[in-house]
Amino acid sequence: MKLILLGPPGAGKGTQAEILSQKLGIDTISTGVMLRTAIREGTELGLKAQGYINAGELVPDELVVGIVKERLSQDDCKKGFILDGFPRTTAQAEALTASGVEIDKVLSLEVSDEAIIERLSGRRECKACGTPYHVVYKPSSAGDKCSVCGGELIQRADDNEATVKNRIHVYHEQTEPIKEYYKEKGKLVIAYGQEELADTTREVAKALGLEA
Ligand code: ADP
Ligand code: ZN
Repeated sequence: MKLILLGPPGAGKGTQAEILSQKLGIDTISTGVMLRTAIREGTELGLKAQGYINAGELVPDELVVGIVKERLSQDDCKKGFILDGFPRTTAQAEALTASGVEIDKVLSLEVSDEAIIERLSGRRECKACGTPYHVVYKPSSAGDKCSVCGGELIQRADDNEATVKNRIHVYHEQTEPIKEYYKEKGKLVIAYGQEELADTTREVAKALGLEA
């Protein structure tokens, strides 16, 4: 299964990607995680991306398209993958199509703007391994430490209110048009994000025609 997860920031894409990844036995490729790793490691890509991310703007297409193509060319992607956070502009979607990658389905995870603001304010992630948490919806079983690796849980620099508002704006302006692009190709399916994580997971499975 070659799958794209679309949706506004904080829709729960990362969490659903992780669940689907285990269910389907394929890797998640998250451009957000790749970019934050690059920033943490101080690579050239990280230095270029940092300013855009902290302002809630998109990183330029050519940078992101480059890292995704490189990742998709690796052997383990042949059996399938989940793209989380890519494509995010019509130009990125077109670049993906042009690279010859055949996508099976594009799942749009829909959440209202009001819900996004509430979710992002409670969002945390492991400083060491990047596993996502939410203080209310997905607390760590290890308290204030990561249940996977024991790392420290932190709030992302771009989850502050001003940046969040800009990210929502950017989503509607630049990313939402992609839905139409894939709808025309007959690939688009929609799931509505629910208050409870397990309910969202069920909606996602239903939309994809998987067993819950
Ligand atoms: P969210 O979906 O919650 O906004 P992500 O981790 O997917 O979080 O992305 C965080 C930031 O990384 C984005 O606001 C953007 O600046 C950058 N980014 C991630 N993926 C892309 C992409 N495909 N194109 C451009 N910028 C991206
Ligand atoms: Zn961790």
